[in-house]
Amino acid sequence: MDLEKYIDELQTLVNVDCGTQTLDGVARVAEVMRELWQQEGWYTEQVDLGSAVGPALLATNKPAATHYDVLLIGHLDTVFPQGTVAERPMSRDASRLYGPGVSDMKSGLLNIVWAMRTLPAEHLDRLSIAVAMNPDEETGSVHSSQWIGELAKQSRYVLVCEAARADGSLVKARKGVGGYQLTFDGVAAHAGNEPEKGRSAITAFANSVLAINALTDVARGTTLNVGVVQGGSAANVVAAKLHAEVDVRFWENEEYERVHHALESLCQQGFLDGVTTTLTRVSHKPAMAASEETQRLMALVERAGLEEGITVTWQAVGGGSDANHTAALGIPTLDGLGPIGAGFHSSDEWLDIASIEPRIRLLKRIITML
Ligand SMILES: [Zn+2]
Repeated sequence: MDLEKYIDELQTLVNVDCGTQTLDGVARVAEVMRELWQQEGWYTEQVDLGSAVGPALLATNKPAATHYDVLLIGHLDTVFPQGTVAERPMSRDASRLYGPGVSDMKSGLLNIVWAMRTLPAEHLDRLSIAVAMNPDEETGSVHSSQWIGELAKQSRYVLVCEAARADGSLVKARKGVGGYQLTFDGVAAHAGNEPEKGRSAITAFANSVLAINALTDVARGTTLNVGVVQGGSAANVVAAKLHAEVDVRFWENEEYERVHHALESLCQQGFLDGVTTTLTRVSHKPAMAASEETQRLMALVERAGLEEGITVTWQAVGGGSDANHTAALGIPTLDGLGPIGAGFHSSDEWLDIASIEPRIRLLKRIITML
């Protein structure tokens, strides 16, 4: 393959500020991808998911299809704010490429194009393939998960092309994620003159943290993290207000049910007399577990690896992706089918140049075997 051409295309995609909230940047990436797919002769459709997010893009080799053999998924957005590209545009050394979104996941988007570009005509004729590119994965796919879910329900298999892990592993399972906001409403009072009239939101919160942490079950992989807290107004005021955010991770959806109900009943009971606690669930991604059907797909991927001389290994990881949604719908789903990278969501993000070509071959081989 012409690796320098690939890297040129990648540079065009990386050097656009396209954090989820930078709507025109996300739209620009969608447009670049659309041109690439049109050059391949694929049908493309820009999909409006509302004014809060940029456009999504669908590409398919069979525009009339009502059923797809495989749905390939990638996201157009990054986590980086406007100005990041000016600070650190795409760069390279002998073995790695660097830059915002280089492996999470501009290279994944591009690997799909390159895998389809050289897919033998017999398979392009035989298979209905859809590629869904969404604009808001990094903020939980709130506006795109329904669209992706509808496409997944029409598909036999889903392959998410997030980067392979640093050791080359693909992803067979992901933890589920629950996100909560907690509000504590107490009563303000002067801390010197009449503290007895106050009801401290901060004291209630302090009691709550230990109770929340106690719901953790490390052996089963269920963890809770109180990650954000904002409260109080001055040292000489009994705090009336406090806001906190909690992140829950789990391998088993039953575990999540346990934690969710426990949080509800704890908050209903309250943590201090006179302080009201309000619990709001703001996001939920079910756990992605490898079903029997998924295990058969894993075996197929391993055979594809053998034929391409690539050792396929698997990891179960704590981070969520769009794979959580499609797996929960019962569609066999695997993830990590992009090239190898790491350091996601940080300025250390990198992409392993030597992995680009083999991972394109692997993806292509898997699709020919479906
Ligand atoms: Zn990603």
